[in-house]
Amino acid sequence: MLQFLTFDLMNLFLGDPIRRRRALICSLGIICSPFLGLRAQAQPASESNSTPTWEQVISAYTALAEAHPDQAALREFGSSDVGRPLHLFTLGPDTAALRILVNNAIHPGEPCGVNASLQWATSLLSAPENLPPGVHIGIVPMYNIGGGLRRNCCTRANQNGPEEYGFRGNARNLDLNRDFIKCDSRNALSFNRMFSEFLPDVFVDTHTSNGADYPATLTLIATQPDKLGGPLGTWLEAEFTPMLYAGMSERGEDMVPYVNSVKATPDGGISDFLETPRYSTGYGALHHAIGFTTEAHMLKPFADRVGATLMFLEVLLETSLSQSEALRELKRAQHQAFLALDNAPVAWELDTNAIDALEFSGYEARYEWSAVTQERRLKYDRSAPYTKSIDHLHTFRPSRTAPVPNAYIVPQAWRHVIERLQANGVRHFEVPKDTVVLLEVARIEGHSPLGRPYEGHHYRKVETVNRSLEQVHLFAGDWVVPTDQAAARYLVETLSPEAVDAFMAWNFFDSTLQQKEYFSSYVFEETAEAMLKSNPGLKQEFESLRNEKQEGGATWSARQQLDWLYKRSDHFEQTPARYPVFSIPKNQPIPFYE
Ligand SMILES: [Zn+2]
Repeated sequence: MLQFLTFDLMNLFLGDPIRRRRALICSLGIICSPFLGLRAQAQPASESNSTPTWEQVISAYTALAEAHPDQAALREFGSSDVGRPLHLFTLGPDTAALRILVNNAIHPGEPCGVNASLQWATSLLSAPENLPPGVHIGIVPMYNIGGGLRRNCCTRANQNGPEEYGFRGNARNLDLNRDFIKCDSRNALSFNRMFSEFLPDVFVDTHTSNGADYPATLTLIATQPDKLGGPLGTWLEAEFTPMLYAGMSERGEDMVPYVNSVKATPDGGISDFLETPRYSTGYGALHHAIGFTTEAHMLKPFADRVGATLMFLEVLLETSLSQSEALRELKRAQHQAFLALDNAPVAWELDTNAIDALEFSGYEARYEWSAVTQERRLKYDRSAPYTKSIDHLHTFRPSRTAPVPNAYIVPQAWRHVIERLQANGVRHFEVPKDTVVLLEVARIEGHSPLGRPYEGHHYRKVETVNRSLEQVHLFAGDWVVPTDQAAARYLVETLSPEAVDAFMAWNFFDSTLQQKEYFSSYVFEETAEAMLKSNPGLKQEFESLRNEKQEGGATWSARQQLDWLYKRSDHFEQTPARYPVFSIPKNQPIPFYE
């Protein structure tokens, strides 16, 4: 192997630029095709323990695109937080009925998909018959470029290779696999734009696991079917995902569901992972893409992880092609089913009473005395493999729902929200002139922020929302967004304040929660007195409330009493906790429509 690598390295440093890139592909462990003019015997993938740098992987795809201009292209689709462009490599005609998108190195310390995708693309292009007709494939070579450039040997403490890899956080220390809705990173905003333009039917995000030890090399998170819902969710769970497991098994790789242990070890049961829209495949579900997160097992040799990830991509392509027609029809039905909803689920929770059995192969867990902590420690005994039935919790129920309106009104003041709607290809028209209209207004009654920063925010859970019709002042240029459009589900799950990954949850509207004007008690006394005199009903309500509090032993200070009256006076601003995105209910016509 050393001799061959020397040959490649000579090409790398001495040859012409294209030849240098071709040599680079080979030296990365890719099987080089004779078409590329190099011997088809590069270092076998099974022996490679390295992953390309950003420069190397982009050079490799550039070479592939140059060598196959009729079948492939490499293009930039926006910027990343380190200024370098994000790339998308595409194969096959843009007009193909089936569209598959693969995202790599969102966590650059987990790069098996980077290698696997490059091998896959190389193999698909190695002979004309290898790339099936009827599919358009997109590959993001390296999504988290900033993290990829922070290359090191060691930050994946529990991982077996490769020798060097990037870091999980991006250039702003964000986990990009939590950033798909809030888009704090330029990477995510660029990705939103690319995704809504590419519009995949099937989406894959490649990772490496953490956690327990067990024999399987590859584990899988499918878009959570109950959360996906509709005809697509049912079909995904009953038909499509089982075909992928069977396809892997037929090729000798027994893939298992992602091992999300309920207790300390997998034999205590595993549960589905709920990938809400902040995650890659959860975001994809908002555009009716079925998504898969591959999680290769961190303790298996790197080359085996690459091999299993590559095998999954091949099985997925084959299975998707065989189901292409069904997939298109179900996607259409999914959209129609969503539009027919009066209320859509916007948050989910695991049903801990719905327990299924799963045949699982694991290693027995042993406990020993730790030489370090002087306490009990866990060890998996690889000499004691087992296959047994374990609990599998995979039923999720909606925990909050929100109305699906006829349209949303997004005032132009919320430009950061509008920027994200634009990135998602949301269709809209503008309010033609300043006006006052009757709209559905949501008031945030109960909410709780997270006490510590999480991914650059104090995530806010909205528990109670009250909706009523109110007159609202709109300005020329405010956005009217009908829900009867492709991005309907994206709109409902980002603009409903109670949705688990709503813009509200990610603090885009926190300024609306604050009261701006107050009063001086000594000045307001006279006003309060006049209010009570002129409004006997108010007086009665006020006094009975005070009696109730006194009898219950609760304090109701003078300031609190005056504040109660102030909030019922004409002086109160009425807008604290008024959610600033308004709705036109489903049975109401959309104003301003020509
Ligand atoms: Zn990961």
